[in-house]
Amino acid sequence: MISLKQALKLSQDELRVLKKELNERAKKEKKIGAYVEQFLDCDLSDSCDGIPVAIKDNISVKDWPLTCASKILQGYIAPYDASAIKNLKQNGFSPFGRCNMDEFAMGNATQSSYYGKTLNPTNLSKVAGGSSGGSAAAVGADIALASLGSDTGGSVRQPAAFCACVGFKPSYGRVSRYGLAAYSSSLDQIGTITKSVEDASILYDAIAGYDELDSTSAKIEFQKTHDKLNPNKKLRIIAIKNYIEKANPEVKQALMQSLDKLKANGHEIVFKDLLDFKYDIAAYYIIATAEASANLSRYDGLRYGRRAENIENLKDLYVKSRSEGFGDEVKRRILLGCFVLSSGYYDAYYIKAQKARALIKNKYNELLSDCDLIFMPVTPSTAFDLNSKKSPIDSYLEDIFTISVNLAGLGAISVPVAKDKEGLNISAQLICKAYDEQTLLDGALSLENIIKNQ
Ligand code: GLN
Repeated sequence: MISLKQALKLSQDELRVLKKELNERAKKEKKIGAYVEQFLDCDLSDSCDGIPVAIKDNISVKDWPLTCASKILQGYIAPYDASAIKNLKQNGFSPFGRCNMDEFAMGNATQSSYYGKTLNPTNLSKVAGGSSGGSAAAVGADIALASLGSDTGGSVRQPAAFCACVGFKPSYGRVSRYGLAAYSSSLDQIGTITKSVEDASILYDAIAGYDELDSTSAKIEFQKTHDKLNPNKKLRIIAIKNYIEKANPEVKQALMQSLDKLKANGHEIVFKDLLDFKYDIAAYYIIATAEASANLSRYDGLRYGRRAENIENLKDLYVKSRSEGFGDEVKRRILLGCFVLSSGYYDAYYIKAQKARALIKNKYNELLSDCDLIFMPVTPSTAFDLNSKKSPIDSYLEDIFTISVNLAGLGAISVPVAKDKEGLNISAQLICKAYDEQTLLDGALSLENIIKNQ
């Protein structure tokens, strides 16, 4: 598959041929279930003229269906472009196909979509990761050049790691959330999934920047990164010892070897600890569900998408539409979110979670004031078997290395560094100070080059 850099040089005719090829290949790889269109037996969109970029089904593209892989949004058509899509189009790219995902971006395995599961292109008995599993599987299976996903607690970095791609979550507020269907507004961020760090930088440059339509957009200077990419900078990197220790033996070994290589190439490596991740999980699943319960209240059967039939009164309409429209995990989170926000429990859970969030953020800032980047695992293991998580808690524990970055609002990237004995990808995660995406991409490119040239 050609890189985005090469694609930028193609003529309109060549781009048309490329899109046809992608479409044909996607049909052959239908069993992976990377695109929503494949479940619906229709072609991927080829209506625009730019370089094709696959889009997660929770980012609005004007006149396209937008369903967040949920039954409740069946029939809804986005009336406008998300700001990230508008920027994409202005920079020579065009949306190409809707990628499958966990319903409303809640999950880490892309097994809860209304359309069906997405499978891991490296090994079809494994999950693709999630919630942006379709976006990652499409790039991993060479049926997309690059894709957009969203990352609330790891949903770009983790599936990218499972599908052997680069997953980049910019700092909170760097990419506009306008037109991204909200899950947890204080954590959500659009990110990129690509074949390489250089492509991540190209795609990031095309979508990022201040947007007055998003009140949480970062109103600070944004400079493009690609023309300044420099893998030769020598960086001081803090490796998180207590997290690396927690990963499974193969992941741990691969990360320790990567650190040795970084050191041999002139980077300074220092080992330090972060807080116990039990605080991350507790704080994240309280804050994310609290915000989700509020954000998802808009899906009432009246305003968007699908409405239940045989309704007797207004209450019946709400109850039936929501009961029929949402899947189990989404309902579980709405219930949990309402509970932690209810009077009597608000102080005990929600306020406490906000305090834990401040603590986590402070700890990161303390470490980042003493280094350029932080290094740690993305996932405790490589891609796990389909249907292997038996309880919601089992599943939530898969997120231990990704969610704290969102709680702290930082930028982070997952970069492939090794394979396990089954041939599944292992990635390392690099984290930067808020808005220092340039250093993050420089360090990631250095790591990628070291691994490729070993
Ligand atoms: N797995 C996490 C969750 O289920 C993160 C999801 C995401 O980043 N969208 O909430």
